Amino acid sequence: MHEVSLVESMVALVEDERRRHVFSRVRTIGVQLGALGHVEPEALRFCFDAVTRGTIADGAQLRIETIPGQGRCSACQRIVALHDRFATCPACGHADVRITAGDELRLAELEVE
Ligand SMILES: [Zn+2]
Repeated sequence: MHEVSLVESMVALVEDERRRHVFSRVRTIGVQLGALGHVEPEALRFCFDAVTRGTIADGAQLRIETIPGQGRCSACQRIVALHDRFATCPACGHADVRITAGDELRLAELEVE
């Protein structure tokens, strides 16, 4: 499953962080999740609990911030809101809209103690 490797790379980032700062447990992990990505927040939550068990992130709370989709139309150059990654430009109907936001999965916040 795609989500499993995502959570595994999140845990790896947290482990890296622990090499630089001393902490005993992770309270919160905040991620930014693009609305146009292929990851469902619920699936991510489910995997998070299973994958973090026994790791440094065991028991951490997962905070998901959804980033809305946005793109730039290559025909009219407008920045437009996108609701799916294959949407056409809502202003001019052109199909070539480059995604500028909403495609990310990023570790945004790490609360430790
Ligand atoms: Zn357009």
